[in-house]
Amino acid sequence: MNVQAQWQCISGCGACCRLDPELRGEALEALDLQQQQTYLAMVGADGWCLHFDTGARRCRIYDQRPDFCRVDNLLGLFTASSRVSPAAAFDSASNSESLADVDSQPADDAFSQVTDHLQDQVDRDELAIACCRQQIRSEWGGRGKVMKRFNNAIRHTIRQSIRQRR
Ligand code: SF4
Ligand code: SF4
Repeated sequence: MNVQAQWQCISGCGACCRLDPELRGEALEALDLQQQQTYLAMVGADGWCLHFDTGARRCRIYDQRPDFCRVDNLLGLFTASSRVSPAAAFDSASNSESLADVDSQPADDAFSQVTDHLQDQVDRDELAIACCRQQIRSEWGGRGKVMKRFNNAIRHTIRQSIRQRR
């Protein structure tokens, strides 16, 4: 049985909001010039994002946060795939109009596009979980409470996936 862990953000973490370029060089390099300017303008003297409430560990501009803060965009930023952009594939996999377009294509193409969409979603989740673990480990420790809560949240999605398949 193929059981898929799904990425979840947890409250009271914010590990990915430490933007210090010396620590996040790889993330910064993946951005285009305009995104890099936006990113660098958000870095506070302590290395944390100026929009991060360090007491409550929450984003003060969550609904207006930049696109590179949205985990759905991670796969598109960190892969150089020659096929359809993974982020776009994920969006279109959950978009009924795009799936209707797939209906009008030859069966092999349509099947391949749908399986690509599903694989992209799996890739997206795995990458997002790995990135979160890396950042949580670096900010709050690999054996700390935040890592335990994050791992529990991911385990919960696996249990849900098992229940749905019964
Ligand atoms: S590191 Fe992951 S779990 Fe923590 S705030 Fe960022 S996205 Fe959420
Ligand atoms: S804008 Fe919000 S989500 Fe993005 S790094 Fe800053 S505090 Fe974090």
